[in-house]
Amino acid sequence: MQIDEAKIQKIITDVIEGLNSQSQDARPQKGVFESMTDALAAVKIAYKQFRGYTIAQREKMIDKIREYILEEAEQMAKLGVEETGMGRVSDKIIKHQLVANKTPGTEDICPRAYSGDCGLTLVEMAPFGIIGSITPSTNPSETVLCNSIGMIAGGNAVVFNPHPNAKKTSNYAVDLVNRAILAAGGPENLVVSVKVPTMDSSNEMVSDKDVKLLVATGGPGVVKMLLSSGKKAIGAGAGNPPVIVDDTADIAKAASDIIKGASFDNNLPCIAEKECFAFDSICDMLIDRMTQSGAYLISGAQVDELIKIALVNKDGKYSINKKWVGKDASLFLKELGINSDARLIIMETDAKHPFVQTELMMPILPIVRVKDIDEAIELAVAAEHGNRHSAHIHSKNVDRLTAFARAVETTIFVKNAPSYAGIGAGGEGHTTFTIAGPTGEGITSARSFTRQRRCVMADGLHII
Ligand code: NAD
Repeated sequence: MQIDEAKIQKIITDVIEGLNSQSQDARPQKGVFESMTDALAAVKIAYKQFRGYTIAQREKMIDKIREYILEEAEQMAKLGVEETGMGRVSDKIIKHQLVANKTPGTEDICPRAYSGDCGLTLVEMAPFGIIGSITPSTNPSETVLCNSIGMIAGGNAVVFNPHPNAKKTSNYAVDLVNRAILAAGGPENLVVSVKVPTMDSSNEMVSDKDVKLLVATGGPGVVKMLLSSGKKAIGAGAGNPPVIVDDTADIAKAASDIIKGASFDNNLPCIAEKECFAFDSICDMLIDRMTQSGAYLISGAQVDELIKIALVNKDGKYSINKKWVGKDASLFLKELGINSDARLIIMETDAKHPFVQTELMMPILPIVRVKDIDEAIELAVAAEHGNRHSAHIHSKNVDRLTAFARAVETTIFVKNAPSYAGIGAGGEGHTTFTIAGPTGEGITSARSFTRQRRCVMADGLHII
C-alpha cells in the first residue's frame, strides 16, 4: 500500500492545531474577568502598584508588547476575521504590524520647562489613572493594543469594555498585553476586560468613581454616550471620507492608490475612501485605470441590486445591512451572478446616492462626476457630513489642495496617496486606531492620555 505522506502531514497539522486552539480556549486569559466588578477591583490594585514603576520600566513593558504583537499578528488577524466575519487576514496582519512599529511610547510624553527671573517651572504629563475604553468591532485587537501602548506609556491602567461581537479577539489582545507586561516584570492586571461585555458592564465601567478618563472608539452612539457621562472623555467617532480626483492628478497612480485605500481590510477603516468625486474630463480614464488595477465596474440594474444587498431601506431611509459590513467584494459580486476576485466594486452614481451618503464599510466605491473643483469640494464636504474625520485628494494644484483642506476641516487629510498614509502606513507620522475628531485630540498617542501638572520653583534653580 502506498503511503500518502502529504495526507499524513496534513492530519498531524490539523490535530496539533486543534489541540492548540483547545488549550488556548481552556487557558484562563490574563486580565479577562467574569464581571466588570472583578475587573475594576483588579485594575485598581494594579494601578497602585504601577505608580511605583519607573518610566524605563514602562518602556520595557511596551517593548515586550510590541514584540508579542509582531509574533502573534497573524493569529489575531485570523481570529478577528473568523469571529467578526469582517475584513481580510493579510490586511489585518499589516494593521497589527503598524500598531507594533508605529504607536509612540514614553518618548511622546515630553515635559515642558519655563525658566526665567522668577525661577523654574516644570510642566509634566501625568497619568489620568484608570482609563475606561470602549473599542469597536472593525479594528478590535488593533484598538486594544494601540490604546494599551499609549495609555501605559502615559502611566495609566486600562479597563476595556470591548465590542460584544469581537470579544474573543479583543480579549486575546488584553491577554497578550498582560503576558508581555508580566514577562517584562510589570504588575498583574494593568489592563483588564470582561469575558462578556454588555451595556451593563459598560455602564458600570463608565460610572465607577476611580475611572477618571473615558475613551470611545466607534460610531455616533457610543461617542455621544461617553460625552454625556459628565467625565473627561475622548471621542473617536464615525467618518465617511470623500476622495477628489482632479485633472492635474497622475490618474494611473490615483486609481491604484484609491483601490489600495478603499479595499484595505474591505473598507473597514474609518479613514478609508468611501466615495469619489472625479472631474468629468478625467473620469473615464480614472474608471478605466481602476478596472485595470483590480476594481470591478458595475452599472444600471446591478447597482440597484447591490443597494438591496448592502443597505436596509426603512421608510425611505437607508442604513447599512450589518451582515454585509467588511465582506469581500467577490461575495457581493457572487450575489450579482458575477464570478470575480476583484478587491473593490466601483460604479457611477449621482451625489445623492445612498452609497455616497452612507458610511458603508464595504468594498464598494461610488464615483460621482463633477465639472470643477468648486463642485467637487461642495459635494465632498456635504458627503463627509461634518464628521471632520478624514478626506483625501489627488491633485498637483496647490490652490485646490489648500481649498479642499480648508473647506472640509478633517482631522486627517491625505494628498496623492492611499488613505492609510494618514495613519503612518506609507506616510510620515505615528499611527493610531483612535482618531479623536469630535474632542480634538486627533491622532491620539500617549500624550492624549495624560494630564498636565505644573510644578513651580520660585526664585530658584534658574542657573543662568
Ligand atoms: P459601534 O459604534 O457599533 O460600537 C463601538 C462600541 O461601542 C462597541 O463596543 C459597542 O458595544 C459600544 N456601544 C455602541 N453604542 C453604545 C452605547 N450607546 N452605549 C455603550 N456602548 C455602546 O462601532 P463598530 O461598528 O464596531 O465600528 C464602526 C464605527 O466606528 C464606524 O462608524 C467607524 O467609523 C467608527 N470608528 C471610528 C474610529 C476612529 O478612530 N474615529 C475607529 C474605528 C471605528
